[in-house]
Amino acid sequence: MGSRLPHPVDVRKAVSSFYCGKIESTDTTLVKQYLLSTISNLKGADFSVEYLEGKQSKTGLHYLYRQNYQGKPVYRGTIKINLDKTGNIISLFDNTYHILETPSGEFPNTDDCYDIIKSIYKEENDIVKILIEDLYFDLGPRLIPASRIELWDKGGNFFELIIDAEQMIVYERDMNDYFNNNRVHDVDTPALARVFNPDPLTTAEVSYGTPYEDASDADISQLNMQRQQVTIDVVFENDTFKLESPYCLITEHSIPVVTPVTSLTPAFEFTRSQDGFEDVNAFYHINVYHDYVQQLGFDNIVDYPIWVDTHAMGGADNSNFSSAGGVPKLSFGEGGVDDAEDADVIIHEYGHAISHSAAPNTNDGIERTALDEAIGDYFAASYSKSINSYNWQKVFSWDGHNPFWNGRVVESDKHYPEDLQNNLYKDAELWSSTMMQIMDDIGRERTDEILIEALYSFSLQMSMTDAANLVIAADVSLNGGGYVAPIRYWMCMRGFIPCDVGIDENGISNFNVLNSYGFATRDEQAVIQFNSPQSGTIQLTDVMGRIIFSESFSGSSEYKISPKNLSSGIYLTKVTTQNFSSSYKLMKW
Ligand SMILES: [Zn+2]
Repeated sequence: MGSRLPHPVDVRKAVSSFYCGKIESTDTTLVKQYLLSTISNLKGADFSVEYLEGKQSKTGLHYLYRQNYQGKPVYRGTIKINLDKTGNIISLFDNTYHILETPSGEFPNTDDCYDIIKSIYKEENDIVKILIEDLYFDLGPRLIPASRIELWDKGGNFFELIIDAEQMIVYERDMNDYFNNNRVHDVDTPALARVFNPDPLTTAEVSYGTPYEDASDADISQLNMQRQQVTIDVVFENDTFKLESPYCLITEHSIPVVTPVTSLTPAFEFTRSQDGFEDVNAFYHINVYHDYVQQLGFDNIVDYPIWVDTHAMGGADNSNFSSAGGVPKLSFGEGGVDDAEDADVIIHEYGHAISHSAAPNTNDGIERTALDEAIGDYFAASYSKSINSYNWQKVFSWDGHNPFWNGRVVESDKHYPEDLQNNLYKDAELWSSTMMQIMDDIGRERTDEILIEALYSFSLQMSMTDAANLVIAADVSLNGGGYVAPIRYWMCMRGFIPCDVGIDENGISNFNVLNSYGFATRDEQAVIQFNSPQSGTIQLTDVMGRIIFSESFSGSSEYKISPKNLSSGIYLTKVTTQNFSSSYKLMKW
C-alpha cells in the first residue's frame, strides 16, 4: 500500500449533509422512495435504488443503498443514510454518480473473465469462491461498462478485480465482506489460563532488549514471569475443554497447520514457546473486549463467533481481518514476535471486526480506510492504557518498536489536512491521536460509547472531517451534546473541523443577508443572496459548534434559511463555495 498514486475511485469524496430533513417513516421502502425523489443523481427512468444493509445503533437506524443504472450497479455508487428513530435524517452521505447518457462500449464477456482467472490460478481447485458481475466503473474522466470479479482462494486471499471489455484489469484491491454466522454454545465452563496483559514489556515496564527479546519464541524466564493468571470461559464437549465461546472460536484456517489447543482439565496454562499460549492469549483478550463493548450497551457488535487462527499467514510478520466467503476471521502471523502475543495486535484486528459489524461494506476510499486503521489503533492503545499506562503512546508495544518493525504511535502532532500522505497507516495517526486526547479528557467508556455509536453512520468515501461531525452528532443523540465542547476542541485543534465558531463575521462582501430581523423576531426566513450564481455548501451551527444542518446547493443565486425549530440563541451561517468561504451570525430571539 506504499506510494503508488491513489485511483480516482479511492480519492472521490461523498457529499455529506447533516440534519437535512425528515422522512415519514423509517421503513426501508419509504426511505428508498425518498432518496429517489430527492437525490438529483437518481432522477430519471434509468435509475433505481437497491437496499443493501441496515443496522440499528443505540439512537438510530443506518441504511446503505446502491445506485443502479439501467439495472446494473454503479461501482461504489451508494447512499448511506442515518436516521433517528422518528425518521429525522441525522446525516446522509451521497456517493452516487451523475450519468447523463449511457456509458459507451460493451460489457466484457464472461469467458474473458474466466481467462483472466485462469491466468492467475494454474490449479482451479486453489479457488474457493468466484463471483462475477457486470457494473459501471468510474475511470476518472468517465464511466465504462465493466465486470467485477471477486475471488477467495485457499491461501486466504480475498480480492476484487475490475475488467474492461479489452480484458484489461483497470482496478484491483484486497477486500472484505460481512456475513452473520451464528453458532450457539450452551455450555460455558470456567478454566484457568495464563496470558500477557497487555504485553510483557508494558507489565515489566521495560523497552525491547536483552533479556526481553523474542529470541525465536523461546521460553525466556523473564518473559514467562510476565504471564498473569486469569479465568476464561470455555466449552466442555465430549470430555474435552475447548477455546470456544459465543463470540470467539480458535480455529485452524490458515497455514501453518497448528491444531487449536484443547485440554482434558479446565486449565490452559502455557509458556510462550508453546503453541497453546497464543491461542489462549487471543481468546482471552477478544472475549474481554467483546464483553466490554456489550457492557457499553451495544449488543449487535460482532454478535457471532469470530474465527481466530493464531499461527497463520504462512509465518509472515503480519495479521489481518477478513470476511471472505462470509466467514469473518482474524489471522495472526508468527514472524518476528508472534503477533498474538501482543494484545495491541489482537485488539487492532478486532477493531476491524467491530467496524465491519457497525457499518458493513463501507470501508472504501483513502481517508475512510485510514479511519479504520486509526480506530483499531485507538481501541488497542486505549485498552492497553486502561490496564497499564507504561509507554501508552506506543501501539504494538511488544510486536513492534523493535528490530522487526517500528510499530506505530497514538501521540502525533500531525495536523489535518496538510500532513496527510495518502498512506492509510501514516494518516491513521491523526485520528487515533485525537481520540486518545478526547479519551484523556472525558474518559474511556464515554469516548468509546460515542465513537462506536458514530461508527454505525460511517459511509464509503467519507473524510476525517465527516467522521468528526459524526462523532459530534453521536454525542448529541446519546448525551444531548453534553461532551460536544471537549470533542469539538480536540477536533478543531487537529484541523478536522473549523475553529471559527463565534468569531465576528468577516469578508461577507460575497453575499448579502436579507431579513435577519424577521428571522430573529418573527419566525421568517432569512435570505442569503449571492452576487452571482454559486455552487457549494451552507452550514448552520449553534454556539457549541453543533451542526443544525448542512446542505449543498448548485447554481443558486440565493438560499433561504428558516428559523423554525431553532431555540433562542446565536447561530453561525457558513457559506463555502469554489470562490469563497464566509461566515455570518444570525440571532434567534
Ligand atoms: Zn489494520
